[in-house]
Amino acid sequence: MDLVGTLEGLSQGRMALGEIIDGLWKRIEEVEPRIKAFLSLASPEDLKRAGEGLADKPLRGVPIAVKDNISTVGFTTTCGSRFLERFRPVFDATAVERLRAAGAQVQGKTNMDEFAMGSSTEHSAFGPTRNPHDPERVPGGSSGGSAAAVAAGEALAALGSDTGGSVRQPAALCGVVGLRPTYGLVSRWGLVAFASSLDQIGPITRSVRDCALILSIIAGHDPRDSTSLPAEPRDYTAELEGGIADWVFGLPREYASPELGAEALSLIDRWTSLIEELGGRVVEISLPLTEYALPAYYLIASAEASANLARFDGVRYTASVPGETVREMIAASRTFGFGREVKRRIMLGTFALSAGYYDRYYGKAQRVRTLIAREFADAFREVDIIFGPTSPTPAFRLGEKADPISMYLSDIFTLPSALAGVPAISIPGGRIGGLPFGLQLIAPRLQEGKLLRAAYALEQALP
Ligand code: GLN
Repeated sequence: MDLVGTLEGLSQGRMALGEIIDGLWKRIEEVEPRIKAFLSLASPEDLKRAGEGLADKPLRGVPIAVKDNISTVGFTTTCGSRFLERFRPVFDATAVERLRAAGAQVQGKTNMDEFAMGSSTEHSAFGPTRNPHDPERVPGGSSGGSAAAVAAGEALAALGSDTGGSVRQPAALCGVVGLRPTYGLVSRWGLVAFASSLDQIGPITRSVRDCALILSIIAGHDPRDSTSLPAEPRDYTAELEGGIADWVFGLPREYASPELGAEALSLIDRWTSLIEELGGRVVEISLPLTEYALPAYYLIASAEASANLARFDGVRYTASVPGETVREMIAASRTFGFGREVKRRIMLGTFALSAGYYDRYYGKAQRVRTLIAREFADAFREVDIIFGPTSPTPAFRLGEKADPISMYLSDIFTLPSALAGVPAISIPGGRIGGLPFGLQLIAPRLQEGKLLRAAYALEQALP
């Protein structure tokens, strides 16, 4: 059952919060030893007790899982890193604050690639999360714990974060729904920064209507985030019905490339027919800069990460390793605290920003980013929605993508829209070899209402 269905059951008195919580914990006891989605968990008794006072609020005390790079009072916020193993924030992120104000409770914190750098959750310092559909496979990343918890029935819904695909790609690989909002629609206050010009918090849920509900609660202006848009609160659940008759859907040639293989291409054909059956029109479009999104993203995101992660020095917040001098202490602490992938990004980013290379790498990547944003804006003059696969393959095996480039390639379809700052959603689009394969829909800036309506129509039409 999804979150909206659960809330209906609670409001009609068909269910009690205690039963919901017991049901979730029964499932956690069964599957968590194998899946390992959570890094910390609330006690079910505490949730039941505190839930009694929340019965009149819209979310009625239901527990929601939160990715471990989103600050929460009462839990550690480790970012999947040794460095922050014992870090307990003294404030809630705005998104969490708003969920709590609406009557939700934090169920626990979910596993992730260290500092959200990765696409498989294998880069967590606390061990990998496994895909509920096949424990030999990864759940995707970096919000792999959130996606796996929702897919396995351990959580009703979760928050993740998406810098270049980390909500959508794990949602696709686990067979659930994941939304990346327009950059600036959801406050980043309390989200531990990876790449500030790209980071967005987004919901991971069992249904499109759940996604709409959570977005309605967490979206909106926040004066504590200087990049927060002046957006009015809006009820996205009220915009779901109505269908997609006469809407134009663009399928980029670059997103339906023959390299995807026969099964993925036949799913894309199926999506095309479904859109047409629902009264929409499908046109082929071209986004020729798609192939430049990956190099531009890894330069920009790594450059920003190298600056953002400078604060982790062994003095404040973090684990600390002693040294003879301050310099040695900082070096020893960072050597101990950061994993390999994080070190790689910091070095790449520092290099890209260094004198003599700044313009050649970082400056050029920024110009490419501007062109990619323009390419989307141009495309949206002709189409309402862009669609294609979320990720080129279904879930891969643990250890399969040992070299960084092969891992980075899992994000080729989620990076361009992230660079452009436009909203995108992944919904279950069918199966390949028994594993879930995600359908991604992309909309113009601040058109989440439209995006969710299209996703809802297709979700109802897909088996
Ligand atoms: N997989 C991409 C990366 O490693 C995106 C991660 C994210 O969105 N946080 O950077």
